[in-house]
Amino acid sequence: MTHEPTTSAPGGAQPVLPAWAEVDLDAIAANTRVLRESADGAAVMAVVKADGYGHGAVQVARAALAGGATWLGVAHLAEALELRAAGISAPVLAWLVVPGQDLTAAVAADVDVSASAPQTVEALAVAARRTGRTARVHLKVDTGLSRGGATAHDWPDLVRAAARAQAEGALEVVGLWSHLASADDPAQDGLTRLQAERLAEAADVAGRHGVRPPLRHLANSAGTLAHPATRLDLVRAGIAVYGVSPAPQRGSAADLGLVPAMSLRARLALVKDVDAGEGVSYGHAYTTSAPTRLALVPVGYGDGVPRHASDVGPVGLGGRRYRIAGRVCMDQVVLDLGEDADARAARAGDEVELFGTGAGGAPTAQDWADAVGTIAYEIVTRLGARVPRRYVGALAHDHALAPDAVPGGVSATAVGRR
Ligand SMILES: *Cc1c(COP(=O)(O)O)cnc(C)c1O
Repeated sequence: MTHEPTTSAPGGAQPVLPAWAEVDLDAIAANTRVLRESADGAAVMAVVKADGYGHGAVQVARAALAGGATWLGVAHLAEALELRAAGISAPVLAWLVVPGQDLTAAVAADVDVSASAPQTVEALAVAARRTGRTARVHLKVDTGLSRGGATAHDWPDLVRAAARAQAEGALEVVGLWSHLASADDPAQDGLTRLQAERLAEAADVAGRHGVRPPLRHLANSAGTLAHPATRLDLVRAGIAVYGVSPAPQRGSAADLGLVPAMSLRARLALVKDVDAGEGVSYGHAYTTSAPTRLALVPVGYGDGVPRHASDVGPVGLGGRRYRIAGRVCMDQVVLDLGEDADARAARAGDEVELFGTGAGGAPTAQDWADAVGTIAYEIVTRLGARVPRRYVGALAHDHALAPDAVPGGVSATAVGRR
């Protein structure tokens, strides 16, 4: 077994950090190309909400655009404005606004906004008059998720409000859209087909009111990859852009030709030998069964490692997988390495991988999701602000694509996030 050098990162060029997330921007671009091919002529919107699923919204947006995405999608207006502030001019759709929210900045920044109710259409018209611009709206219909979107009953009112504002020149209806409930689940393919039919019916209703926008969109990552009928004019792909399978039941990331872009790495802070019968970590939920070597990994729930990973979270070290011994603390976890040759070779400063591409037998975010009973979306997205993101790949070195990069490879936005 060979371990990494213990005092500096490979090449010695980068500062030694306790823990960091490496984000491969070339993988983001390559995954986007896979989605573009799957989308079969539909445009690709890369969804970069929640700080790009924890990867860094601006960096991911640039890499996805380099990979052929032509739209960006976010939940909040502030997320859209962050992209604009970074100089990104591609079309951006923001889909989660609340009554009373000021939409002026969004309209002024040419951000498309979704409306599920006439109230939002009216607020957009107000913002348009205030800015002297035409607001761009996507009308959302609920086709079965029962989350956002107007019900079939309320849809004609929404369409009429939009038609009126459009006639006045206050806004332009750019798209009609909806969101899928279970495209990841082969057992619910009937529901996915029904949602596509309901969106088509809603578009017919809109057409009868004179609202015939250029775009219809429905698919998320799972829809894009598994349901041709949902691709329409534009697909909104999130998780697959990051190289994580949207539908583990249908296939792994590798099966789908996707490469996980994020690896969570850390360096062992301490390695020490203890006797049999020693309680490990808070509450002594774990006790050593033999004389053994313990290793301290400097990440914890303060960094986004789920506390539910106590006793089950997998960690890769030297080509082997270990499980977290005892409780996950705020800042650290402990591994019980045993006392074999691999354990004896372990040194403080050695690099561990909590999750990544899965190369060399190390765990993936999907392995973490399976271990703690969640989805890989949550594992990557919950990664905390304390963990610096290190951008790698040719795109990370392209200055035009990464003006935020600072010497050492740790992004300025990652270090001083928000
Ligand atoms: C998050 C989100 C997406 C992306 O979903 P993935 O499953 O990550 O591809 C698409 N559309 C909407 C409305 C979303 O909220």
